Amino acid sequence: MNPLDDSIPENQDSSSWGPRGSAAATFPARLTFDHITHVFKGVDAVNDVSLDLALGEIICLLGPSGCGKTTLLRIAAGVERPQKGRILLNGEEVAGPNIFVPPEKRNVGLMFQDFALFPHLSILDNVAFGLNALDQATAASEARAALRRVGMSAYEKAYPHVLSGGEQQRVALARAIVPRPSVLLMDEPFSGLDQRLRESVRDETLSVLRETGASCLLVTHDPAEAMWMADRIAVMRSGQLVQVGTPQQVYCHPVDIDTARFFSEFNEIPCVSRGGKIATAFGNVPTPARLSDAAVTVMIRPQGLTRSKSKSALEGFVLDARYLGDASVVKIAFEGIEQPLMAHLAGTGIPAKGDSIRISLDLDHVFVFAAGDT
Ligand code: ADP
Ligand code: MG
Repeated sequence: MNPLDDSIPENQDSSSWGPRGSAAATFPARLTFDHITHVFKGVDAVNDVSLDLALGEIICLLGPSGCGKTTLLRIAAGVERPQKGRILLNGEEVAGPNIFVPPEKRNVGLMFQDFALFPHLSILDNVAFGLNALDQATAASEARAALRRVGMSAYEKAYPHVLSGGEQQRVALARAIVPRPSVLLMDEPFSGLDQRLRESVRDETLSVLRETGASCLLVTHDPAEAMWMADRIAVMRSGQLVQVGTPQQVYCHPVDIDTARFFSEFNEIPCVSRGGKIATAFGNVPTPARLSDAAVTVMIRPQGLTRSKSKSALEGFVLDARYLGDASVVKIAFEGIEQPLMAHLAGTGIPAKGDSIRISLDLDHVFVFAAGDT
């Protein structure tokens, strides 16, 4: 092999991606998980999960480490056979008690966390690897088109070790989309990248996914990433789906206290509900019917405490303030509330320690759950 093949052309801007809109389109498929259960050594990795990924939809599977996300993806891909339940593609069973279609016959693309490129293959050969049904010239031309889209054309003769993490990620994405999978399964694809790079790779990946039109199930443990990428978010905990909905539904109507906490910080105040409302120092907060006359936890997002000029707003004293630029994070003591509260105050100003400020409650950022729900 010619060692010069490993050289990188000079003046190559490795940060820019290829022309938008140029990724090859696919025929998306619908992916259905039908009551999937999978147990490892007595541990319920996945427990009775049903989920329907619509044509061309992007669902983010979101949950803490160990909750069963990877297992669910491996089952969809056919790398793992489910112990109970069925997997369907466009309504056709591909895994179940009596049937098991192997991964290579499912037209499902995979991009795993450790997306390792083959070190002994050139970038072009890495991308063309899955195209063995095509003749060599066609495979190379398809692979080149995918590399162009991710802005990595100039590297086609290079070997993986000369690429940075972000560049390898782009090649892995090209490799995942080049066979035009109907469904793409991505397992924490951005977790190895640093924050700044992650945002740009994420945005471009999203536009590549939209261009291909493939249905996509993307695993993440980062709520902000899920909010940004997803048509719908499937929140998973201890092997089960606890909530499935649009980013707005999940953020604004979390089903339980842990889901709420997973998406943001909260001030949590123990209270008692009586006659359909909860008397707080900020005034009455409505209570869900099922929680009337009960001990409750009132959860207030820092964004739910806003500055107000109204006389009825509650006066508080600034204990500490941190400046973020377009907002400040302020610790405030209030009479009638035992613990100081954290407020996220919009605007470029910042209150000083010891200032008196008036705060009212934005009920969009307030949730009420039964006390002891955790
Ligand atoms: P996540 O991807 O959400 O971090 P996983 O699906 O990898 O979670 O794992 C779910 C649970 O199943 C964990 O408790 C994990 O330890 C266990 N598990 C996963 N794979 C195996 C395996 N091959 N053998 C035994 N236990 C496993
Ligand atoms: Mg995992």
